[in-house]
Amino acid sequence: PSPRSSVIIIGAGVSGLSAAKVLAENGIGDLLILEASDRIGGRIRKEKFGDVSVELGAGWIAGVGGKESNPVWEIAAKLGLRTCFSDYSNARYNIYDRSGKIFPSGIAADSYKKAVDSAIQKLKGLESNCVEDATNRTDFTLTPKTPIELAIDFILHDFEMAEVEPISTYVDFGEREFLVADERGYEYLLYKMAEEFLFTSEGKILDNRLKLNKVVRELQHSRNGVTVRTEDGCVYEADYVILSASIGVLQSDLISFRPPLPRWKTEAIEKCDVMVYTKIFLKFPYKFWPCGPGKEFFIYAHERRGYYTFWQHMENAYPGSNILVVTLTNDESKRVESQSDEETLKEAMVVLRDMFGSDIPDATDILVPRWWNNRFQRCSYSNYPMISNNQVINDIKAPVGRIFFTGEHTSERFNGYVHGGHLAGIDTSKAVLKEMRKDERQNDKQNQNF
Ligand code: FAD
Repeated sequence: PSPRSSVIIIGAGVSGLSAAKVLAENGIGDLLILEASDRIGGRIRKEKFGDVSVELGAGWIAGVGGKESNPVWEIAAKLGLRTCFSDYSNARYNIYDRSGKIFPSGIAADSYKKAVDSAIQKLKGLESNCVEDATNRTDFTLTPKTPIELAIDFILHDFEMAEVEPISTYVDFGEREFLVADERGYEYLLYKMAEEFLFTSEGKILDNRLKLNKVVRELQHSRNGVTVRTEDGCVYEADYVILSASIGVLQSDLISFRPPLPRWKTEAIEKCDVMVYTKIFLKFPYKFWPCGPGKEFFIYAHERRGYYTFWQHMENAYPGSNILVVTLTNDESKRVESQSDEETLKEAMVVLRDMFGSDIPDATDILVPRWWNNRFQRCSYSNYPMISNNQVINDIKAPVGRIFFTGEHTSERFNGYVHGGHLAGIDTSKAVLKEMRKDERQNDKQNQNF
């Protein structure tokens, strides 16, 4: 086995790196970061597509301009990361039907109001926590049925929940959202963070306390420490472990625990829903979509809910890139992940020809991220049921012996976001530091008694 570390951090996404940085700043030099993939960043990931870098995972810094400052926004500003303001609110005025007509704004506004009312009503029913009451309250005339209603219902539930219930990110940090549009990628923020405590040279992390391609498969824990086994047969020992794998990974069988996790823990892990969110990028030889003010986002209304519904052009972020992005979620995400990219391209082209006519050119390239089928992710982010008490998240976050849990899914106020991961990492490392100090005091006492 390798020499024993004070803390092993599993995962080098934003939460794992934030945790490691706080530990290093507090004098914990003998930490070790084990990352399953061949890169840092986790769900923050850029990839070259056409001539530009696109963000396959997190794209926006959400929650800007409010009473408190979003820490991720602060870091991005300090680094001079290039960002673009996104105004989703216009999307509702750019709803296309299958014959390419844009719905008149009056109809769109009415459908919007109806969908918001329906969602609020559903929420109230759930809040009353009484099935009978929930059924009585359900006004079935508000149930979305037509393509435009289904499209808006999808947007409201999968993108703009803030219209239905308050979202802590917007309440605390403000309602503005900025798209990261920087060739260095959102992940630049993480490299700069790592640079502050790991040895780097020419933009590469060379510190051997970060080990890539180390897939953790087993955590054996006792009162004295934790033994970590990786897929390639390595064994590492530590006083404490911080586990930052996503909620999707925790729900899978990738990592086994010896002894097994207690029931309260596994039950809480099962209760959290996972959200799959897929941004499909399409490159064209030229633009055929409107690009003026208020046109960045548009919606396709189809009788199948969530079928290639939400679109964005990249001209604001990368002028001249001729790239469109369509976002799918959950079942639709899983469906396209399991088919070939050619099939997905064909489907997307039929949708685009419905909206913009038969004479538009074929896409020359497509990029389909597969977050669901990635065994190191198994989701895009956590999605706690609308009405879930804090007990579930507190149980997911609570340590089991010397294993501490972190990641966006452990952030009570900001789960699902980059800043949630960042703040969770800081929080967890502080909790570990506290335990370490307790150990030290106990050791001192024992030494005095001798
Ligand atoms: P991760 O980034 O998943 O880090 C965990 C790390 O652990 C990974 O690197 C993984 O490889 C590693 N790992 C897993 N299992 C093992 C193992 N067994 N052994 C070793 N290592 C392991 N947030 C926003 O704020 N704005 C957005 O616009 C936004 N959009 C998103 C869009 C998509 C498509 C996705 C996927 C996410 C989006 N998010 C967004 C959410 C945001 O990306 C996440 O909340 C955040 O990056 C999660 O960080 P984390 O450290 O908790 O987890």
